[in-house]
Amino acid sequence: MSYKFDKSAVAFAEAKLHIPGGVNSPVRSFRSVGGTPPFIARALGSQIIDIDGNRYIDYVGSWGPMILGHAHPAVTEALQRALSLGTSYGAPTLVETELTKSIKAVFPSMELVRMVNSGTEATMSVLRVARAFTKRTKIVKFAGCYHGHHDGLLVKAGSGAATFGVPDSPGVPEGIAAATLTVPYNDVHSLTETFRQHGEDIAAVIIEPVAGNMGMVLPLAGYLEKVRQITSQYGALLIFDEVMSGFRVAHGGAQQIYKIQPDLTCLGKIIGGGLPVGAYGGRRDIMELIAPAGPVYQAGTLSGNPLAMTAGLVTLKLLTEIPDLYKKISAKTAALCIGIKQAAEEFELKIQVHYLGAMFGMFFSDKRVYDYDSAKQSDTGLFNIFFHTMLEQGIYLAPSQFEAAFMSAAHSEEDIAATIAASRVAFEKVKNCTKS
Ligand SMILES: *Cc1c(COP(=O)(O)O)cnc(C)c1O
Repeated sequence: MSYKFDKSAVAFAEAKLHIPGGVNSPVRSFRSVGGTPPFIARALGSQIIDIDGNRYIDYVGSWGPMILGHAHPAVTEALQRALSLGTSYGAPTLVETELTKSIKAVFPSMELVRMVNSGTEATMSVLRVARAFTKRTKIVKFAGCYHGHHDGLLVKAGSGAATFGVPDSPGVPEGIAAATLTVPYNDVHSLTETFRQHGEDIAAVIIEPVAGNMGMVLPLAGYLEKVRQITSQYGALLIFDEVMSGFRVAHGGAQQIYKIQPDLTCLGKIIGGGLPVGAYGGRRDIMELIAPAGPVYQAGTLSGNPLAMTAGLVTLKLLTEIPDLYKKISAKTAALCIGIKQAAEEFELKIQVHYLGAMFGMFFSDKRVYDYDSAKQSDTGLFNIFFHTMLEQGIYLAPSQFEAAFMSAAHSEEDIAATIAASRVAFEKVKNCTKS
């Protein structure tokens, strides 16, 4: 098998003439791994196919949404029906309430829910209502957690920002960044100290309860309980950003697994079934502050639009109806991760492999990874060799050491076996590079 990227190279050169960096979201550009990003022509099930005709087993899944696999027939058929009825009205529809009820059935902490158009919009809006409710200004976030690209939270963010080494983007006013306090993930002591100093001013703590934007990092045992306890003690709100982990690490997200009730939750990705979406919700007494129920303004021309709502509703219905869906996907994720770890060990390479539900990630590091600093110890040079060797064998991973990977219901046993076999080839190449 030999993969050529000729058409993609031409397409990328042309895109760069018209779009900053040739892409509409930075990590897609392959800046951190080098080379040409394949331009994708179509996708089906577990596979994506680029404009040169190369096929890949896809573990990016549009960065999380595609848990049923690409172009699931139930989703595309429902979308075709919805399309024929008009694409947007800017007026209430039945499907908005239906989708919201489907979310609430799985996320009981979300008593009232507002739909928006992206995860960024959800986290931006949730901070406004948290500040209005508590009448406080400061927000606490964790180094390496990413909550979208708005000013208030683009501070020590992981993901693209970590990859590019611009934790503080130019253009973010100092005054806004100053209202955001950043503490290390999984570090109870730092959080306690921060609250001791600023507790009276802290409106909310926002956290990825399972982190996926510095690579995948799990909360240590008891950590989220402690975060819940400290926020309650100081009257600050706890916001779970489950844009990635919701309907992903488990049906009911991280809050179901760890049995923590946040005050507010942000969702996105899976709940839009591959269309642009975000949502935030939580305690009724807080969410009732949002206009027009209350005085906190937040609006959107295309919010709750019928195409995104339809794709989301069908997706969530299937996630509920397919028997043992999460059990099966989790088993596949575990099988793949154990296989990859064993393959690395065959070549005496020490890597850290993390997984939960339908999400996984690995670090080229021989040390335990539990926060942003330990994640950054990873050898990105080795990751890049691994990444390209996988890509050339038809395995599509996120083009950065600092991103998570996603399993879908459409991945087959053969896909997993092929991925493990490919990883053996890639680890051998990595091993040879560590020698020379
Ligand atoms: C993807 C993501 C976001 C941002 O969502 P967009 O739809 O890309 O704006 C926010 N928070 C987390 C945890 C995410 O993974």
